[in-house]
Amino acid sequence: MNLILFGPPGSGKGTQAKRLVDERGMVQLSTGDMLRAAIAADSPMGRIVAPIMASGGLVPDEIVIGLIAERMDEADAAGGAIFDGFPRTLAQAEALDGMLKGRGSRIDVVIRLLVDDAALLERVTGRFEQQGRPDDNPETFKTRLGAYNAQTAPLLPYYEGQEKLKAVDGMGSMEAVSAAIRSALETVRT
Ligand code: AMP
Repeated sequence: MNLILFGPPGSGKGTQAKRLVDERGMVQLSTGDMLRAAIAADSPMGRIVAPIMASGGLVPDEIVIGLIAERMDEADAAGGAIFDGFPRTLAQAEALDGMLKGRGSRIDVVIRLLVDDAALLERVTGRFEQQGRPDDNPETFKTRLGAYNAQTAPLLPYYEGQEKLKAVDGMGSMEAVSAAIRSALETVRT
């Protein structure tokens, strides 16, 4: 099964993706994690994306599409992937559909995590204090939320049109959200 965890920054995509990996043995493909690894390795690409990520904006489509393309074999081998933080633009969504189609595969479901803005700010501020991730500071978070609303939320009608969208209440405890995702996945035919 290929699924997309969809939602604004701080909605719990990464946390829930890791739980699904543990439960189902799927592969988590997080473009944010891949980009942070490139920055940590001080690679040429890492140097290009570092200031963009620090500002809270989106990195160019061709960079993240390339990162995902490199991991598709691994996803195939695992029998499916959890896309976490990708796609974030229509161009990325179309590229993903194309890559999967070329492999005789497709996105089976898009799980949208619903969390209100006040709770997002509270969570990301908490994460900033605990983990010190620079783009979690409240000012940059506002830019990231703006990017989500302007560039990523418009993907909702795209997946709605494909009848793949399932909304899950993301405001509860980690366990409650996991349970809601599990029951949403039970209704998915692959
Ligand atoms: P995340 O860890 O998913 O919140 O991503 C952290 C940052 O990495 C984002 O604010 C963007 O700057 C960048 N990023 C991650 N994934 C993407 C993507 N699919 N498209 C563009 N930028 C991305």
